[in-house]
Amino acid sequence: MDGLSIQNTDCLDAPLSGVQLLHAPVLVLNLNYVPLNICTVRRAVILVGKSKAELLENHRGQLRTVSSLVEVPSVIRLDYMVKKPSLPRKLSKKEVFLRDRFTCQYCGKKAQDLTLDHVVPRRQHGSHTWENVVTACNRCNLRKAGRTPAEANMLLKKEPRAPDPNPYLILQNRTLLDEWLPYVPWSARG
Ligand SMILES: [Zn+2]
Repeated sequence: MDGLSIQNTDCLDAPLSGVQLLHAPVLVLNLNYVPLNICTVRRAVILVGKSKAELLENHRGQLRTVSSLVEVPSVIRLDYMVKKPSLPRKLSKKEVFLRDRFTCQYCGKKAQDLTLDHVVPRRQHGSHTWENVVTACNRCNLRKAGRTPAEANMLLKKEPRAPDPNPYLILQNRTLLDEWLPYVPWSARG
């Protein structure tokens, strides 16, 4: 490992053994406190040691290195801004409903029987893209049938677009540690 050598990984009051602890996950926040990725304790200790990140949360005790004791991070924040390549949200029925706030884009009603409507129908070579799919209630979908909104004389509430990238996707399907929670909004904890 570069920069910092951890020779003896005795941890003083941590529940995991030293080696396990080095590989335990650490939440890395961007300069603006938005989660950026998850790294190992080993990597996080190096970043903090090189003053490239600050330690925000330590709930795991300390590690003994060659020359000193270091805090074991749970959450660190980088000292610089990383511009992330934007992660486009995956096009799925659920994501389209979320984008449209579970509201039919034709009649404006929040309905139980929501469906996915291709604005330009598939049989007219409409694409399966964010710009061509909207949430429609069953009634509006049946009324529109295999026609474009113009053909069906129906108006869209607004033009469909791709939603903003979700920075919290990195946390999906992960076990969130208690000490990460202050940095993760409720909406991203599902
Ligand atoms: Zn409707």
